[in-house]
Amino acid sequence: MKILVYIETFEGTVRKSALELLSYANDLKTLKKGSITALAGPQINDETITCLARYGADKILVIKGADKSYSISSSKAETIRQAAIKEGSEIVLFTGSVAGKALAPVVAAKLKAGMVPGIYTLPKSLEPFTINKKVFSGKAIATVTVKTPVKVLILLPNSFAVKENPVPAVTGEFPPGIAEPATAMFPGIRILDTIRTNDQTRLTEAGVVVSGGRGLSGRENWRYVEELAGLLGGATACSRPAYDEGWCPHDGYVGQTGKVISPNVYFALGISGAVQHLAGISSSRLMVAINKDPDAPIFKSADYGIIGDIQEVMPRLIEAVKNFKSPPPVIK
Ligand SMILES: Cc1cc2nc3c(=O)[nH]c(=O)nc-3n(C[C@H](O)[C@H](O)[C@H](O)COP(=O)(O)OP(=O)(O)OC[C@H]3O[C@@H](n4cnc5c(N)ncnc54)[C@H](O)[C@@H]3O)c2cc1C
Repeated sequence: MKILVYIETFEGTVRKSALELLSYANDLKTLKKGSITALAGPQINDETITCLARYGADKILVIKGADKSYSISSSKAETIRQAAIKEGSEIVLFTGSVAGKALAPVVAAKLKAGMVPGIYTLPKSLEPFTINKKVFSGKAIATVTVKTPVKVLILLPNSFAVKENPVPAVTGEFPPGIAEPATAMFPGIRILDTIRTNDQTRLTEAGVVVSGGRGLSGRENWRYVEELAGLLGGATACSRPAYDEGWCPHDGYVGQTGKVISPNVYFALGISGAVQHLAGISSSRLMVAINKDPDAPIFKSADYGIIGDIQEVMPRLIEAVKNFKSPPPVIK
């Protein structure tokens, strides 16, 4: 089984989600002997190449010779299509990031391949190719069968454990594909530059997410969200009203119409737990809710609940986390 893994990079480094994809591809190989080609770039550094080999990429193709127009999805999709054909790939893997979800359907259409988004586990069978996927924001599971020779799969971020699997990888270069203007998704658009807006951990990949809702009562209390997230090395998020109020500087809120996340720990600060919000966070492994209303619906979903006012609970919680990280000296 030949597997092509599309590796998203930013400023030369790979994201954790790329290592999840490689770990997934390695487990696929246990079902049927095969090889993994990682397609990455163009800004990839030597350290990253070594990292991809450590996580099981048998072959690493770095996209070389791309100009800034390459940033446009149509060109990327064309490059991936060409790589899949050249490598004879039967499975093309993407992560469920914004970019992955935009590229995968285009690549699938170009390859006339069946596509399954929302996968989180290995196929139930390879012949026929049958796999479970999450639907309705993770509330239900659908079992689907793909009949096309090539399959395009989108793996949910944070759904597959990262495992090292060092191999002696072969590296090579791959030319960027240029989308025909007639088939380009945005023919009139040229990318001039790409600028990072903040240094925060990406929301969809973060292990810890601290999220604020209308119960924060004002922009000035967003600092609680940022401080706790900073202490725990996590990302910040918010409910839709907090986003609408402009309290949340991040590029999105979570929920049915926002981002869908599955962190290890989700802190909900002053969030009621409306179904539309829960739709984006129900796959969290552990949920901690802080709310002054003991009857708030969020407590039905939370693993741990603190009933209290944000203004009283948060300074104490932040202090406790600081002390936990650096215990105060023991006075004898
Ligand atoms: C079609 C549709 C799609 C939607 N999509 C989304 C979505 O994707 N994401 C989303 O988040 N919402 C979405 N919504 C909105 C959703 O229905 C809720 O209105 C929203 O999630 C509520 O946000 P909230 O919990 O921050 O605010 P509220 O519901 O107002 O809850 C605030 C909570 O804070 C508590 N609180 C108040 N003051 C304090 C305090 N001082 N200390 C502690 N607790 C306090 C209150 O007890 C309350 O439980 C959608 C709605 C619709 C109709």
